[in-house]
Amino acid sequence: AHLDRIAEVDGAVHAFLHVDAEGALAQARAADDRRASGATASALDGVPIAVKDVLTTQGLPTTCGSRILEGWVPPYDATVVARLRAAGLPILGKTNMDEFAMGSSTEHSAYGPTHNPWDLDRIPGGSGGGSAAAVAAFEAPLAIGTDTGGSIRQPGAVTGTVGVKPTYGGVSRYGLVALANSLDQAGPVTRTVLDAALLHELIGGHDPRDSTSIDQPVPALVEAARQGAGGDMSGVRIGVVKELTGEGYQSGVQARFDEAVQLLVEAGAEVVEVSCPSFVHALAAYYLILPAEASSNLAKFDAMRYGLRVLPEGIDDPSAEEVMRATRHAGFGDEVKRRIILGTYALSSGYYDAYYGQAQKVRTLISRDFAAAFEQADVLVSPTAPTTAFKLGEKLDDPLAMYLNDLATIPANLAGVPGISVPSGLAAEDGLPTGLQILAPAMADDRVYRVGAAAE
Ligand code: GLN
Repeated sequence: AHLDRIAEVDGAVHAFLHVDAEGALAQARAADDRRASGATASALDGVPIAVKDVLTTQGLPTTCGSRILEGWVPPYDATVVARLRAAGLPILGKTNMDEFAMGSSTEHSAYGPTHNPWDLDRIPGGSGGGSAAAVAAFEAPLAIGTDTGGSIRQPGAVTGTVGVKPTYGGVSRYGLVALANSLDQAGPVTRTVLDAALLHELIGGHDPRDSTSIDQPVPALVEAARQGAGGDMSGVRIGVVKELTGEGYQSGVQARFDEAVQLLVEAGAEVVEVSCPSFVHALAAYYLILPAEASSNLAKFDAMRYGLRVLPEGIDDPSAEEVMRATRHAGFGDEVKRRIILGTYALSSGYYDAYYGQAQKVRTLISRDFAAAFEQADVLVSPTAPTTAFKLGEKLDDPLAMYLNDLATIPANLAGVPGISVPSGLAAEDGLPTGLQILAPAMADDRVYRVGAAAE
């Protein structure tokens, strides 16, 4: 049914870069056989899933939305993908994304943008717009995204889906093509909070192949989601982050947020206002730390090891450096080049302390703000994104306007704490989805599920 739906709508939505109909059907039949014999691989055995094209999939192309990886078929599965397969989830295909996960609209994909199923003239968010659109358009019941600065939560908000960024280290990064190693996390994109909890429990947990993986059991997420769905929020302290509301937020987004908080109060929660003064510097710090890490990660695309190789014109016997230059010139898009230049500059000698070093200090201050806020509240809340889905093309020529979408999502990545975006109704002025963001302390992912299920 999902493959039929993809055939029907994906020409217009373009959520997928690659559909593996044959593989998905074979996996689905295996799940049917298991069921017939009374066996089951997991709670989600046989439920199909779409995977963002930044996670390696053995035997299936992995492009990261970039020309430079065109034609590359990885020889191994990411741990997340291996766990999906072991749990019996048929993999429908790979979803579209901004090139190397840089962007908030999926327009930076080298393979053309994804369209928001709510209004095809609008963006589905980014960088994981393909995964969110696939779920919103009923092409897949579940998807995997990755979130470095909001790429699961912001697409969730603007497509009316649920998106979770787990605690940093909670889900293995092995086989996740790194954008920024210290920020990246893979997580669920679903239609309900309970679905996300089921999926998160499957993909989460320690992995010796990721040196930053936390060696602790995944909290009881499904139980927390079930508890929250009961609706009783008494004893839960909700902190509204002063710096992440009000000015800069679209009026209909703010109105739906205020209403969501009110509903939590009616369910018995206690609301406090908290202040996180360093959050106003989060965007600036992120756009130094991220390009710095990304420029270093992307150095491996040297025309020798992966994917594309372009020979420079007019040179008979080109050197390795000349081949690398021609390949990177042709293989990387403008946004990727912009960030490589920014990151290389920020890391260069003489500037390191002034830029990268300074940004790392801000990062520490943000973690301290979180620690102080979590003394006053069990979870923190804000709108997920400042606006509803904007029109395709609207911010493409204005990188700064594009970066501003990440205002509310970035602090969680800088501090490594978990966050969810839950649909919070349609904005009155344009009838488009809005999202409620809920953040919790590291390794307290169960709290975002409990409050998320109550708010859903
Ligand atoms: N919009 C952010 C960026 O462009 C988010 C990226 C992400 O989470 N992958 O960096």
